[in-house]
Amino acid sequence: RQDKARAYLAGPALTKLGTPVRVQINIADPSDVDAVDVANCDGVGLMRTEFLFGHASGLPDEETQYRAYAHVLEWAGEKPVTIRTVDAGGDKPVPGFTVEESNPFLGLRGIRLSLAHPEIFRVQIRALLRAGVHGNLKVMFPMIAVPEEYERACVLFAEERAKLEAVGLPHKLPPLGIMVEVPSVAIAPEAFADVAFFSIGSNDLTQYVMAAARDNGAVAALNAVRNPAVLRLISQVAAYGAANGILVSLCGDAGGDPATIPALLEAGLRDLSVVPAQLAMAKAAIAEVSV
Ligand code: PEP
Ligand code: MG
Repeated sequence: RQDKARAYLAGPALTKLGTPVRVQINIADPSDVDAVDVANCDGVGLMRTEFLFGHASGLPDEETQYRAYAHVLEWAGEKPVTIRTVDAGGDKPVPGFTVEESNPFLGLRGIRLSLAHPEIFRVQIRALLRAGVHGNLKVMFPMIAVPEEYERACVLFAEERAKLEAVGLPHKLPPLGIMVEVPSVAIAPEAFADVAFFSIGSNDLTQYVMAAARDNGAVAALNAVRNPAVLRLISQVAAYGAANGILVSLCGDAGGDPATIPALLEAGLRDLSVVPAQLAMAKAAIAEVSV
C-alpha cells in the first residue's frame, strides 16, 4: 500500500471527481520539516509547541521560541503555518508548569493553563508576533471551551503587539483561530463567529464525546472518530464554517487514516492535516473518494 501510495506524494490531492483537498502537515519538533519537501504539502496545519516546553532546562525563553517558529515559517515560504499555543496538561504534562490533578483531561490544560499563567503565555505570544514577519503565520488556541477564553487570548495578543510597536521591534499580528476539540464548541459553533478559523482536534473531540480516554487501550474501541455522534459534530462544524466563510480544517490523527478519510470528506471537510509520514497515503485515500 505504501509503495502504491508513493506515486501520489508529489501531486495535488484530488478526489475521484476532481475536487481539490488541501493536505497540510502536523509537526512537533521544528526540525521535523527538514526532511519534508514543502512542494508536497499545502503548509503546516498544526505545529505543536509542547516539545519546546518539555525540556529539563525549564520553560523556553522568547528567543528560543522565536527561532523555532521562524525556522518553520521560512521553510514554508508563502504557504500557511498554523502554530498552536502551548497545550500543556492532559496527556502532555510539562514539569514545572502543569499541576497534579485527579482528572487531568478535564483540568487545567491548554488555553486554561496559559490564561492562568499570563506571564508565561506572554513570552510565547511575543515570540509568535515577532516570528510572524518570516512567513504566512496563523496561530490557534487549544482546548477553547467558551468564547471568553478566545477573547482574553486576543487581548493578550493586542497588548503584546502594542508593546512591540512601542519599542519598534518588527512584528505581525497573525489571524487567530481555535481548535474545535471540546464538545461545547462543536455543538454550538455560532458562539465563536468571531474566530479567524477552526481546526478540529479529532483526538480530543472523540475522547470527550465518547467518554473514552485517548491513552487507555482498554477503551480504544469506544474511542472511534467514525462513531455517528462524532461525525455528526464534525459535519455540523464544517457546514457552519462553509455557511459563514470560516475555514474549517482537521488536524487530529484521523485526518491521516485512510479508513477514516472517506467519512471526513463526506462530512464536508476539504482541509486535512497529517503527519508527514502519512502524506502520500492520505492523498491516495482521497483519490478513492467520490465527493
Ligand atoms: C487533537 O486533539 O486532535 C489534536 C490535534 O491535538 P493533540 O493531539 O495535540 O491534543
Ligand atoms: Mg487536542
